[in-house]
Amino acid sequence: MQKPNFIIIGGGIVGLATALKLSNTYPTASIHIIEKEPALARHQTGNNSGVVHAGVYYQPGSLKAEFCRTGGAMVEQFCAEHDIAFDRCGKLIVATNDIEVERMKELMTRCIANGLSPTWLNCEELEALEPNITGVAALHVTESAITDYTAITLKMADLLRAKGHEISLDTEVIAVKETSSEVTVTTNKGSFECSYLIACAGLMADRLAGMCGVDLDFRIVPFRGEYFELDASKATVCKNMIYPVPAPDMPFLGIHLTPTTNGSMTVGPNAVLSLAREGYTWTDINLSDLAEMIAFSGFRKVIKDNWKSGLTEFRNSLSRKRYLEECRKYCPSLTLDDLKARSSGVRAQAVLADGTLVHDFLLKNTARTLHVCNAPSPAATSSFAIGDYLVEKATEEFDLR
Ligand SMILES: Cc1cc2nc3c(=O)[nH]c(=O)nc-3n(C[C@H](O)[C@H](O)[C@H](O)COP(=O)(O)OP(=O)(O)OC[C@H]3O[C@@H](n4cnc5c(N)ncnc54)[C@H](O)[C@@H]3O)c2cc1C
Repeated sequence: MQKPNFIIIGGGIVGLATALKLSNTYPTASIHIIEKEPALARHQTGNNSGVVHAGVYYQPGSLKAEFCRTGGAMVEQFCAEHDIAFDRCGKLIVATNDIEVERMKELMTRCIANGLSPTWLNCEELEALEPNITGVAALHVTESAITDYTAITLKMADLLRAKGHEISLDTEVIAVKETSSEVTVTTNKGSFECSYLIACAGLMADRLAGMCGVDLDFRIVPFRGEYFELDASKATVCKNMIYPVPAPDMPFLGIHLTPTTNGSMTVGPNAVLSLAREGYTWTDINLSDLAEMIAFSGFRKVIKDNWKSGLTEFRNSLSRKRYLEECRKYCPSLTLDDLKARSSGVRAQAVLADGTLVHDFLLKNTARTLHVCNAPSPAATSSFAIGDYLVEKATEEFDLR
C-alpha cells in the first residue's frame, strides 16, 4: 500500500494526542498538524480547570466514562515519563441542602458503577477534613487529580517534531476538497495534499465538518466559563478540589474551587452563553456567529428550555457579588476582595437540531476525513484514550489495515 500521509486540523490536546498515536501506529507515515493560532493549546486546552477527572458523573458504559477512566491513567503515565506536574489532590463534592444530598446519593451509586471508591462524609467528617468548607454531607473521591494540559500538549508537539512531523502555526484552514484519491486542504498559507484528514477543531468542529460535506445535524454552541483566581492569602483554603452537586441534565459541573499545579487556587467556571465562538469576555461579540446560532433550531430550543438557568448564570456573570455567593455556599470565609481576575475558557458544546445537548463524544466521517464533533469535558483527561480511539476508527473507516 502507498505510504499514507495525514493532516490533523487543530493544535489542541485532542489533535496532538491523535497525531502522537498515529505516529506510533504508522511509523512511516508523515503527519502535518495545522493550527490557526500562533501557538498550540490557545483555546479549550489552555483555558480549563486542569482537572484529571476520575469519572464521577458519566453514564456507566458511555464512551465518556470509558475514555475518562483509561485516559486519566494515560495522562498520569505521560506526566510521570516527561516530568510534568500531576497531583492526586482528591475531590469533595459538597451537598448544601437535602435536595442535593438526594442527588449526591445517585452520584455515589454512579461512582461505584464507574469503578471508583468514594467515601460518604457527614458534616463533622467534612469539617475535620476541610475546616474551611461547610456542607450537610460530602462525597470524597481520592482518585481525582490536577495537571497542566498545556504542558502536556507542548511536550507531545516536541515528541512529534523530533520524529520529523510538521506543525504549522498561524495557518487557518478555509476550505477542504476531497476526491476518491486524496484530500486538498486550503489555508491562508497555501494548499496541502494528504491521503486522510482528521479534524479536532473544538469550537469550529461543525464548520470543518461542513467544509468536508459531513451531514450537519448538529452545531457548536459556545458556553463561556468565567474564572477568578483566589488571592494568594487564600490559596490554601482547601487541599481537595471542592465541587458543588451539579444540576441534573446540565453538562456543566458548577463553580468549583480548584488548586492548580503552580500553587494558586481558581474559582469557577460558570457557564454563560458566549456571543462569539471564541468570545472570552462579554465585549467579544461576533455578529455572524450570533446570526448563525439564532438561525439554528437546536439553539432556539436550548434557549427556550433553559432560559431560567441561563438568566441566573447571566446575572452571576455580571455581578461578582452573586458569583461569590455561589462559592460561599460551601466556602463561607471567601470575600469579594479574594476574587482576582483570571482569564476565561469557552466550551464547545454540540447541540442537535432538536435542542439536545450532546453529552457524549461524537464522531463523524466521510471516505477520507474523520471529525471530532463533540469532545466536551473531560476530553482533556480523556485525550490519549480519544486519540487511540480515533486512530482505530481511522484505520477502520479509511481501510488502512
Ligand atoms: C472552561 C473549561 C473548563 C474545562 N475543564 C476541564 C477539566 O478540568 N478537565 C478536563 O478533562 N476537561 C476540561 N475541559 C474540557 C477540555 O478542555 C476540552 O474538552 C479539550 O481541551 C478539547 O480539546 P480539543 O483539542 O478538542 O479542542 P481545543 O483545545 O479547543 O483545540 C482545537 C483547536 O483547533 C483549532 N482550529 C479550529 N479551527 C481551525 C481551522 N479552521 N484551522 C486551523 N485550526 C483550527 C483551534 O484554534 C484550536 O487550537 C474544560 C473546558 C473548558 C472550556
